[in-house]
Amino acid sequence: MARIPEDEIERLKREVSLERLAEARGVKLKRHGTDLIGLCPFHEDRSPSLVISPQKNLWNCLGACGKGGSVIDWVMRAEGISFRHAVELLKQENLPLAAQPGAKLPQRSTVPKRASRRVPRQVSAGELAENRASQVEAVVGHASHGE
Ligand code: ZN
Repeated sequence: MARIPEDEIERLKREVSLERLAEARGVKLKRHGTDLIGLCPFHEDRSPSLVISPQKNLWNCLGACGKGGSVIDWVMRAEGISFRHAVELLKQENLPLAAQPGAKLPQRSTVPKRASRRVPRQVSAGELAENRASQVEAVVGHASHGE
């Protein structure tokens, strides 16, 4: 069995939102300072003893189970699976987020029509200035005619 690369694990711990995982599990979270608290889903919890730190992306149960850790520990406990299995699950769940194709850049055509007739591979500064001048001339000439 191939070892799971450490950076892969670190990436999951960073990128998978613990808050989202908890909510997906039906935990109602309340903001408490910088933390989120809710009923721990891993034991019979009557007063919220689950503390989630969104900044560190870590959780901790202050109640009966006294467990805590990263998103991986959460999934292991929530699903009752091994570390390896939890990582695989998180990777799959993470796929739609990671695989979003970048938005296609709109094709911008900044080349003026009259210049596109001959497209020089290398345009000298003089040529550019000439083009500009003739464009300005065209615009000014057009404007002065007044349609
Ligand atoms: Zn608990």
